[in-house]
Amino acid sequence: MPSPDPSTPARARRPEFLALLERFVACETPTHGKAAGDRMADLLAATLADDGWRVERTPRRDVGDVLCATLPGDGRDRGSLVLAHYDTVWPIGTLAAMPFRVDAASDRAYGPGTLDMKAGIAATILAARLLADAGTPAAGGVTLLITSDEETGSAHSRERIEAEARRHERVLVVEPARDDGALKVGRKGVADYHLDLHGVPAHAGNHPDDGASALVELAHLVLFLRSLDDRDAATTVHPTVARAGGAVNVITEHAHLDVDVRVLRLDEAARVDDAIRAWELRDPQVRLEVAGGLNRPPMEPTAANLALFERARALAGTWGATLEGAVVGGGSDGNFTSALGVPTLDGLGACGRGAHARDEHVRIGDTLDRVALLAALLTQP
Ligand SMILES: [Zn+2]
Repeated sequence: MPSPDPSTPARARRPEFLALLERFVACETPTHGKAAGDRMADLLAATLADDGWRVERTPRRDVGDVLCATLPGDGRDRGSLVLAHYDTVWPIGTLAAMPFRVDAASDRAYGPGTLDMKAGIAATILAARLLADAGTPAAGGVTLLITSDEETGSAHSRERIEAEARRHERVLVVEPARDDGALKVGRKGVADYHLDLHGVPAHAGNHPDDGASALVELAHLVLFLRSLDDRDAATTVHPTVARAGGAVNVITEHAHLDVDVRVLRLDEAARVDDAIRAWELRDPQVRLEVAGGLNRPPMEPTAANLALFERARALAGTWGATLEGAVVGGGSDGNFTSALGVPTLDGLGACGRGAHARDEHVRIGDTLDRVALLAALLTQP
């Protein structure tokens, strides 16, 4: 017989959840708005402190300040790190056209940054309240790290994320679940390349043989890059942005190419990197300059990640809920922690759809069920 459904007390907190979410969404937080980010950090710090979290704030010069909040646990020395970010992809002013709203009929809450991932932060706060109400301490305590630059690659927070992960037993990432509710046990790694081709300009009519065309080399390079795809290994290589040329009668001196690379395995990242750097130009007068590389390692579906997922699935099973685990294309800060070998489970935040899209929304009831799961996971030694 299934045990009592712990999502009932979570669902009872629906008004609280929506109040938190509305306040967080009302504070717009584009990654590169330092002042706006700091206002959000003020609001979160106050909310967490009221709930009894010990809050430490780390100043950041170019983005909003980072918050690290802790709750004591049952005395074990290593607990859970919950990873979240408060920045969104939406510029200040988005709310005017895309206000926060709750649609009771569909049980959804809409607005910029609801799903990705202010609802994940609200869910974590609620999960801690559920544990406090039940008088059940988290195993080894909880550290909630809320960063401010995930959407642009976490350049200002990666070191901190990795340092915190090393001190914890496991990492629970409260990014959204997949559209269908699946948790994320693996994510592709992301590499960006920025390629510059330097040719020799010449008058296309008077001195056609004096020039060396960066644009012609770019054409060869684009097709070569596409040939590096390996679908069996789940590797994709896409040239996505190209710029070249100046005047129609001048052999092209300069061409630029941006390339998006996604890999599920580190050895695939190395294969693609080697191939790009070893590319031989047709015209020896043209020079290729390669910048960029791997900025998020893949979150491989390691045995440690899968074991953590199985634990979540078993827990949910005790109250009759089913959980799926998936490997997805997009990266998150969980990529960094998983690459360190720390068991990482991602997608534990909100259920919904439309991250980075106009119809971004959270499914309220489903998300509250996940709050119950998160609370239960935090009590697991
Ligand atoms: Zn996110």
